[in-house]
Amino acid sequence: MLLADARRQVVKTCRRAVEDRLVIGTAGNVSVRVGDLVAVTPSGLDYGDLTPELVGVHELDGTAVEAPLKPTSELPMHLAVYTQTDAKAVVHTHSIAAAALSVVVDEVPAVHYYLALLGGRVLVAPYRPFGSSELAIALIDALGDRSACLLGNHGAVTTGDDLTQAYQRAGYLEWVCEVALKVVGAGREPRLLTDQQMTEATRNFIGYGQSAGDGLQLGVVGGDGSGLTPLLEPQEHAGRQAEHGRDA
Ligand SMILES: [Zn+2]
Repeated sequence: MLLADARRQVVKTCRRAVEDRLVIGTAGNVSVRVGDLVAVTPSGLDYGDLTPELVGVHELDGTAVEAPLKPTSELPMHLAVYTQTDAKAVVHTHSIAAAALSVVVDEVPAVHYYLALLGGRVLVAPYRPFGSSELAIALIDALGDRSACLLGNHGAVTTGDDLTQAYQRAGYLEWVCEVALKVVGAGREPRLLTDQQMTEATRNFIGYGQSAGDGLQLGVVGGDGSGLTPLLEPQEHAGRQAEHGRDA
């Protein structure tokens, strides 16, 4: 079986997403890139019935290489990420807090420093029909050089160097969105983190933890959005984050 490990990872990640309530039914989709091939969830199949053999393998232009079923309708979105960023894995969910927050903001409010784990800012792409190339374009615009964004009136997308990292980010994103929703609902003027505070948080994550404590992985989200960058020099990283600040 082509890309056996990658296809097994896709199945494992989908089942975990159901257990963690990040997706329901057949919603959401997951992919991983290996070389110039992509293993991606098929369309409309309950994750309980998903096996590695049913995970499709496609080329970067979408051509099926080994795919017994039709691919997810969001394949254009996954392929756009792989052809336009350095990401090696994509997790797309319809998690409740992310979907809800995407209806009321254009950017996830900087309510918590965990946003630094996602690249610092999480923008909301405007609503576009699911499965459309317009949605893929809107996603790439909102993602920029970071590793997460929301899709307006739809859900969330996270990327990573591998599926473990992309999935972990989906969990952090959902948690931050849940906090943000409560803050928005509180009806009081929030004290949001400044760009400088976010930069400091990013710097402080360097060398932090060993996946212990609150579960943070060693390392920090790279300024280029390509993933955890464990050995980046603080000075260099601060410079890159400052550039992000100017984008704001
Ligand atoms: Zn979707």
